[in-house]
Amino acid sequence: MASRLTLFSRAFMALACLLGTDARAQVITAGPASCPGVALTFDLCPVRQGTGLDQALIDYLIEHRIPATFFISGRWISKHDEQMKALLEVPFFEFGTHGDVHAHLPMHPPDEQKAEIVGAVRLIKRRYHRDATLFRPPYGEYNEETVEVVKALGLKFILWNVVSGDPDPTLSAEQIEGRLARLTRKGSIVVMHANGKGKHTREVVTQVYETLLPARGLTPMTVSELLACRQTAR
Ligand SMILES: [Zn+2]
Repeated sequence: MASRLTLFSRAFMALACLLGTDARAQVITAGPASCPGVALTFDLCPVRQGTGLDQALIDYLIEHRIPATFFISGRWISKHDEQMKALLEVPFFEFGTHGDVHAHLPMHPPDEQKAEIVGAVRLIKRRYHRDATLFRPPYGEYNEETVEVVKALGLKFILWNVVSGDPDPTLSAEQIEGRLARLTRKGSIVVMHANGKGKHTREVVTQVYETLLPARGLTPMTVSELLACRQTAR
């Protein structure tokens, strides 16, 4: 009995591993390791207080023509139509979605996950006539059903391999910069926030753009540019 149970659990674990590997393969956390580029990405999660947009950060990115990718929630778009239009006009900004109401996806069945994911995609299409094919789950939370739903919708599932920690109010700019210096390498996708939750985000981006990336021969790219990057290391 014990051995049958063991066999069963081994078979089950093997199946779980297979599914897990397949799902993980569809979740993108970085670009090619040979690419001398880094994707700076900024989530626009909904906020209850404040303006909901770090305008100083946006101005800095525009002033220095820094390619950036934004993952935007439907609820944020609903409250920021003018800001959304202004962001869409910047030719070196790319746009993905970040759920409709910033739900905890694994707590929902697939049909509700689909509604949460597709809500923001349809809103951008309807209001601004733009296709947003990149998707990042709220809180970075997902299960295998999430991966299947995203795939079925024809979206690319984008996470990150560098967590800046920028919304953490206990971290100083120097601590965030130290973390980025430790983790950032060729092909990295860095997650930050542009909704004003990151008190030091603009300061950190300035340091990253002016010091860290040039010192390592890395240049900022959008996520799509990074994924298509075929350059080799210098
Ligand atoms: Zn978020």
